[in-house]
Amino acid sequence: LAAASESGGVASYHQVLDQQSLRRLQLGTELEQAMADGQISVVFQPIIDARTSDIVSVETLVRWAHPRFGAIPPDDFIHLAEQIGRIGPLTDHVLDLALARCRRWLDQDIALSVAVNLSARCLSEPDLVERVEQALRRHGVPGELLILELTEGSVVDDSVRSSSVLEDLHTLGLRLSMDDFGTGYSSLSQLRQLPIDEVKIDKSFVLGMSTSQGESFIARSIIELAHNLGLRVVAEGVEDELTRKLLTEMGCDKLQGFLLSRPLPDDKLEKWLLARTGVRSAAPGAQHRRL
Ligand code: C2E
Ligand code: MG
Ligand code: MG
Ligand code: MG
Repeated sequence: LAAASESGGVASYHQVLDQQSLRRLQLGTELEQAMADGQISVVFQPIIDARTSDIVSVETLVRWAHPRFGAIPPDDFIHLAEQIGRIGPLTDHVLDLALARCRRWLDQDIALSVAVNLSARCLSEPDLVERVEQALRRHGVPGELLILELTEGSVVDDSVRSSSVLEDLHTLGLRLSMDDFGTGYSSLSQLRQLPIDEVKIDKSFVLGMSTSQGESFIARSIIELAHNLGLRVVAEGVEDELTRKLLTEMGCDKLQGFLLSRPLPDDKLEKWLLARTGVRSAAPGAQHRRL
């Protein structure tokens, strides 16, 4: 195995490995400080109702603007944070930013739900439920406005299944969403035994829908089965009109993807919302509007 190095030459596998582990080690030690320095921020991607096109929630996605490496994508540092045992603080940080945003919307009489991704590792942290509850209380956000996105692998894990962590989270009023559905090894019938409210069809299926009948068939099957089990269905990775049309015809409840909006920083999302709703906020004391 060999890979081209940045200088254009070819480095040996071991050299590449060493460079990678060195960078990982460095990122690991920098993560904590990065949070304190404000290098770790979030963007929000709108999720819309497939039938009405109303915005129903936003997914919070973490970003790391590194002073030397530039933008580091979450797929490059979430796993690292898990491995070095810092996923708890990182999750708390993201949850904090998401709930603070949600609170500011509430202050404008806008009740918009926020979704936060939960790493598998988080579900085995004994104080998770307590931390989520405290965060909700600290920001004065009702649990009903929070969605936690879990991955398939994390809920089929025996220790999670046998513990009451999902039930306890549910008791806080929040909704649980099964992310990247179809890529793992859980089945919908397994989900039935858990307090899951919705599934998100993984974008690997959705991205192929406009060109592949096979992918469309998978999406249709997931939607039908999920609905039969009383679960809502979100499709992520909607990039074109044909896919949007197909999914809507199949009865998919919610859509997310670049066609509708890319993940946006706070100020851009504000503009996006404004352009769609045309209203900044309701009169003080007015009933919360469900967007
Ligand atoms: P995810 O939770 O499945 O999030 C959806 C990913 O798909 C996001 O990538 C989003 O930018 C991307 N996406 C959305 N619409 C489209 C589309 O139409 N086409 C394509 N090609 N991609 C689309 P992102 O932001 O790079 O995040 C990647 C993954 O990193 C997330 O996948 C999630 O598993 C993880 N992640 C992100 N933020 C957090 C976080 O705060 N905590 C944890 N534990 N994981 C996070
Ligand atoms: Mg997600
Ligand atoms: Mg996903
Ligand atoms: Mg994903």
